[in-house]
Amino acid sequence: MLRQVELVEKVKSYDPYVHEEMLNRAYVYSMKAHGSQRRASGDPYFSHPLEVAGILAEYKFDSKTIITALLHDVVEDTKKNLQDIKKNFGNEISYLVDGVTKLSKLEGRSDKFKQAENFRKLLLATSKDIRVLLVKLADRLHNMRTLSHIKENAKRKRIAIETLEIFAPLAERLGMQEIRAELDDLSFKIIEPEIRESIVYRLEMLRQQDEDLLHKTINMIQDLLYKNKIKADIYGREKKPFSIWKKMKVKSVNFSQLSDIMAFTILLDSPEQCYIVLGLLHQKYSYVPGRFKDYISTPKPNGYQSLHTTLIGPLNQRIEIQLRTLKMNDLANLGVAAHWIYKDNIDNKDGKQFKGISQILDILDQSKEPEEFLEHTKLQMYTDQVFVFTPSGDLISLPKGAMPLDFAFAVHTDVGTNCIGVKINNSIKPLYTKLKNGDQVEILTGEENILSPKSLELSITGKAQACIKRFLHAMEDNELKKLGKEILTNQFRSEGIRFSERNLKTAAENFKLKNDQLFLKIGRGELEPFKIILSLFPKKELIRSNEKIVLLNEVIEKKKVSIPLNKLSPGMSIHYANCCNPIPGDSVLAYISQGKGLMIHIDSCDELKKNQLSKSKLVNVRWEDFNDKNKEFVVKIQVTIKNKIGSLGSLSSMIGKSLSNIRNLKITDRTSDFYKIDVEIDVKNIKHLEKVMVSLRTSEFIENVLRV
Ligand code: MN
Repeated sequence: MLRQVELVEKVKSYDPYVHEEMLNRAYVYSMKAHGSQRRASGDPYFSHPLEVAGILAEYKFDSKTIITALLHDVVEDTKKNLQDIKKNFGNEISYLVDGVTKLSKLEGRSDKFKQAENFRKLLLATSKDIRVLLVKLADRLHNMRTLSHIKENAKRKRIAIETLEIFAPLAERLGMQEIRAELDDLSFKIIEPEIRESIVYRLEMLRQQDEDLLHKTINMIQDLLYKNKIKADIYGREKKPFSIWKKMKVKSVNFSQLSDIMAFTILLDSPEQCYIVLGLLHQKYSYVPGRFKDYISTPKPNGYQSLHTTLIGPLNQRIEIQLRTLKMNDLANLGVAAHWIYKDNIDNKDGKQFKGISQILDILDQSKEPEEFLEHTKLQMYTDQVFVFTPSGDLISLPKGAMPLDFAFAVHTDVGTNCIGVKINNSIKPLYTKLKNGDQVEILTGEENILSPKSLELSITGKAQACIKRFLHAMEDNELKKLGKEILTNQFRSEGIRFSERNLKTAAENFKLKNDQLFLKIGRGELEPFKIILSLFPKKELIRSNEKIVLLNEVIEKKKVSIPLNKLSPGMSIHYANCCNPIPGDSVLAYISQGKGLMIHIDSCDELKKNQLSKSKLVNVRWEDFNDKNKEFVVKIQVTIKNKIGSLGSLSSMIGKSLSNIRNLKITDRTSDFYKIDVEIDVKNIKHLEKVMVSLRTSEFIENVLRV
């Protein structure tokens, strides 16, 4: 186990701004918090955070990262909480520890591997600060190194698979090749122990055939470079069992066909030299076509730079060669850590050490524009997305700001159209709830449909919007058909004609339409019902009275027949005019508005009178069975109140006491004695409105109340 003084000395050796006192305090705090807890190996639990800190110190990360590593399991596994960490170590450390704790809670949930990429994004999005992710990777590395102590075979395998699918690629993404290779190999050992054994064995056999193959090759390359007066460091290695196996799988070849199992790295002073040496090697040895890659002029997305080629080497073995500079090499092996090492100049304690971060963020997400470096100290990854779980653990990615309906339609169109509610993390939530990273979302479905034009405001994704629109459109057509049928039936009745199947059939044929289409056309206002009657009974004297522009007073003589409004849906086939805001109980009149269905006005409405309407456009409607307690209508009243302290408060409380809601309130006129206020309120019907108005009139503050 690393001793306290060893760890502190190590961090001090590379971090001139080490928080030595805090580092010491974190060591003691964590040791005491974990107390007598033990690991599966029997070691004291504290050995784990300490080793994690040690791994990160190897990579020369700043002391706050090391402190976070020491404390990373305290909140999750001991009695100490985040407040206590904050009190003792301040905001930044508690923010970082909290980040690691949140990531830990996501562990073990990545068992759907088709979503591995989404899961990695979730981890990145949750991390927020790159140091959180670094601690988590080191944590995973140490857990993998000690995984053999876990007795359960299935659990070991699950952890190894998660490491291979999620954490090793994340290490790669951060450019940390050494950690990636170790995570790969440790996982491989557990997932496919026999295959790994046999590859290791065969490598051993090869080695015995010519023990010195590696060194001989290095010497021959060295000679070539020496003759050309080029200084270089050459490293040879056998490839790792896992990468050999991966290659065997990808290329479906067996081990003996897999000839290039040795790889050499040649480190040079400058990129120009890399190209020169490449030329020399290609001149001297034959190279395998199609294997040359120039990652110097075109780096990999994670920033990796190098020249790759495969040669038939000096001893007739296929060998892989990588040419790069020392700096490129450090970056390839150490990734983020290399950026820390190569940070340009440390002249500002808190900001400049992150100078390299802006580069890293560019590496992680190439689409990012370079911004101020301070913003880059936060790991702003996938902040435009949100990742949520289905009840079965599938991970779904949605744009930020997405709501349950977006989720529902992302799962399946039927789930969306049948959605009647949502449970988020097991409790019922309103449909306007914005989803958060890691939420578990369960859509409640049912027979009754709740989609309405308002649903469009409860979704942001194109898919949900398109599905809702399509659904509403179909619903609207149905509504308009229903309306058309009502209108036609009424017209028949008011002319004293029986609305029979036969009459209907003939009428539809006359217009070369099917029944449904006939109703739809009438509902949309594209076909006037009196024309249908005329087509059936050409001698009827209808034309003149229907086509002439009428004064409303002429038509308001109540006809015997009218359409009940309760059968039709507001916002679809009927619309309440917002000039007069009719409510149940008002004497109303409707006209067919092209494509929109019925527009309902109070029959004395001035707006209605302004429109010069022909009789054929006007439809009699009535409020029938309007007992739906949940339906609210907006109505506008004008209240004159006394200019006194407390009068506005009294107004709103009296409206509330009458079980009505204020929608909007506007002062229209103000004198020293009185205010005139336009108030929009919700009421159920005209009786409700009267109740509200009467109660307002009883107030000592209120001078007058009028419906507008
Ligand atoms: Mn841990």
